[in-house]
Amino acid sequence: RRGKIFGRASKIGAVFLSSDARSYPGRLAGKTALITGAGSGIGREAALLFAHEGACVAVVDKSVSGAAKTVDAVREFGGKCLAIAGGDVSIPSDVEKMVLETERAFGGLHILFNNAGIMDANDGDAINTPDDVIDRTLDINVKGVIYGCRYGIPAIQRSGGGSVINTASFVAFLGAATPQIAYTASKGAVLALTRELAVLHARDKVRVNSICPGPIQTELMMKVLDTEEKRNRRLVHIPMGRFGKAAEIARAALFLASDESSFVTGASLLVDGGITAAYVTPE
Ligand code: NAD
Repeated sequence: RRGKIFGRASKIGAVFLSSDARSYPGRLAGKTALITGAGSGIGREAALLFAHEGACVAVVDKSVSGAAKTVDAVREFGGKCLAIAGGDVSIPSDVEKMVLETERAFGGLHILFNNAGIMDANDGDAINTPDDVIDRTLDINVKGVIYGCRYGIPAIQRSGGGSVINTASFVAFLGAATPQIAYTASKGAVLALTRELAVLHARDKVRVNSICPGPIQTELMMKVLDTEEKRNRRLVHIPMGRFGKAAEIARAALFLASDESSFVTGASLLVDGGITAAYVTPE
């Protein structure tokens, strides 16, 4: 069943298939996952992949149409999911509600993927970035993750343990020559708070890790990098010579979500095509 089903899901990008679908329970069988920002990009790929791997998935997104699109795609292959459309991770009462709704619908919570994040077009250097851009970026990218943990960690504890995954970025490790100061600061904060929460909860069966994606080939990014010259300026820094795909980040998240990473906590998993390992000397 899964093989056929997967053939359809792969049209929208999810890529993972077991060799013997019928006897394959799924790497997340019996678990419930809540994914924020699941209406697009990395979050949508993760929703598809997690559901394919047997999880019940709460699809959270501020965008009602984005959440609906993801839910339709998951249901198309028979995956179990719930739309929490319109939920805003920067509003504590919204986050509390999304966690409670997930528990009510699926009986618990084991995986929390705090993935929603923004990069504002007016984000720049420290001198010119407007206050409202800094506030909005930190509200969503940092406070959104803290609120997710505030309400999500107790729910995971009530379910007997699980995994929290926070999306940071490779820019938490490297200074980018094209400034985006609020975004960079926000992702550095995600790394730091993830480590601390990992230590705090290490003995109560809650693992907390971050994923640090390199540049991902999304529609939005390709619109910005609309010339060969602009693309090459970035590609020269990527040893693999290409941008990543959202599905490649989703697969790293799957590892952290599943019990296969049972001894991994406080880690910052770089999925960046080698960017942070490279000392580039262009000719
Ligand atoms: P995306 O824009 O495709 O998806 C983000 C989703 O989050 C959108 O559907 C949006 O509606 C939702 N969202 C935004 N604000 C929200 C809020 N307040 N509450 C709930 N949902 C909200 O982005 P993406 O490329 O899939 O990025 C996902 C994560 O990965 C982000 O945290 C981003 O910073 C990070 N990241 C992306 C890249 C990249 O190159 N795309 C690189 C490194 C890190």
